[in-house]
Amino acid sequence: MPLIDGFDRLHDNLRISVTDRCNIRCFYCMPEGPILFLEREEILSFEEIERVARVAVSLGVRKLRLTGGEPLVRKDLPVLVERLCAIPGVEDIGLTTNGVLLAGQAEALWRAGLRRLNVHLDTLDAERFFRITRRDDFGRVMEGLDRALELGFRVKINAVAVTNLCEPDVVPLALYGRERGVEIRYIEFMPLDAQGLWDKSKVLLQDQMMEILRREVGELVEIPDRDPRAPATEYRFADGIGKVGFISSVSKPFCLNCNRLRLTSDGKLRYCLFAIEELDVKGLLRGGGTDLELAEVIREAVRRKWLGHEIHSTQFVAPPRPMYSIGG
Ligand code: SAM
Ligand code: SF4
Repeated sequence: MPLIDGFDRLHDNLRISVTDRCNIRCFYCMPEGPILFLEREEILSFEEIERVARVAVSLGVRKLRLTGGEPLVRKDLPVLVERLCAIPGVEDIGLTTNGVLLAGQAEALWRAGLRRLNVHLDTLDAERFFRITRRDDFGRVMEGLDRALELGFRVKINAVAVTNLCEPDVVPLALYGRERGVEIRYIEFMPLDAQGLWDKSKVLLQDQMMEILRREVGELVEIPDRDPRAPATEYRFADGIGKVGFISSVSKPFCLNCNRLRLTSDGKLRYCLFAIEELDVKGLLRGGGTDLELAEVIREAVRRKWLGHEIHSTQFVAPPRPMYSIGG
C-alpha cells in the first residue's frame, strides 16, 4: 500500500535533516546567542539514516532531500549522498545548503551522485547578507555558487522574503538568476524563527514581489505545474529568459498538495513543518526494532497528517522547534 493520508495525498517525498548545527545565524531561523545543539550521539548515524530511507523507499518514497541546520557542516556528507543515491527506487535527491562550505565540497558531492542543489541566498549585497546572517560569508557563498554552476549542478536559489528588508533584493536576485540560468525561489517568511520575531506584517508577500518584478524586470507568465505537488508556483519571464518561483506558505498555502514527510537529525518523524507532535524512530533504530516496525511508524506519521497548517487561524501555535532544528 502506498503512503496515502486521510485526505488522499500520496507521500513520496522525505526530507532528511542531518544536523541541527549551522555555521551562520540567519535571524529568521536561529537565535543570536548561545545555542544548545544536540550531542553527537543524539544524532542519527549515516547507517541509521540510510535504513530509514530504505524503508521509506520500500513504501513508495521516491524523492529525498538533505537539509539541516547546515548539512555541509556534517562530516563526510558525500558518503551519505552516495549511499542514498544507491538505494534502488530513489529517483531524485537534492540538497539544501547555505553555500558557505560549498566551494570546497561541490566536487565531492558531484562525484557522490548529487545533481540538484538549493542554495540559500537572500541578497547580493554583502552588508545586508551580514545583517541577515550575522556572519561575514557572502564571498564564500558566491564562490560556492560559481563552483556548483561550473560543475553542472542544477541550482535553485532560496531567498527568504521579509518586509522592510528584502525589497531591494527582489530585482537583483532575479537579474542574477536570468544571467546565470538559476531559478530564484522567493520564500515567504514563516513563523518558525527561534526568537519569535515573526508576525504577518513582516512577511513580504508573493503578490508584492510579483508586482516589483513585473514593474522592474518584465511580465511574468505562470508555468503550468508539471508536478502539482511541488511547493513553488513557478513563472517565466515573458521574454523567455529566466524563471522565478514563490513558496507562499503564508499568502497561498499549498497544504492540499502536500507529499512530504520529515526526518529530524535526532530521529523524529514529522508530518508537517508546523506539526506540534512527532513520532520517534531513533528508539526503534537503537532498540532492535524491525524494518516492519519502522514501516509502521512511517505509516502512522502519514495517518496522522492534518489537512494543513493554520497560520491564519487564531488557534495557530508555532511548533516548539525552530526551522534549523526541524530541517527546512
Ligand atoms: N542551512 C540550509 C539553508 O539555509 O538552506 C538548510 C536548512 S534551512 C533551515 C532550509 C531553508 O529554510 C533555507 O533555505 C531558508 O530559505 C528556509 N528558512 C529558514 N528559516 C525560515 C523562515 N523562518 N521562513 C521561511 N523560510 C525559512
Ligand atoms: Fe543556518 Fe539555514 Fe537556518 Fe540560515 S536558514 S541559520 S543557514 S539553518
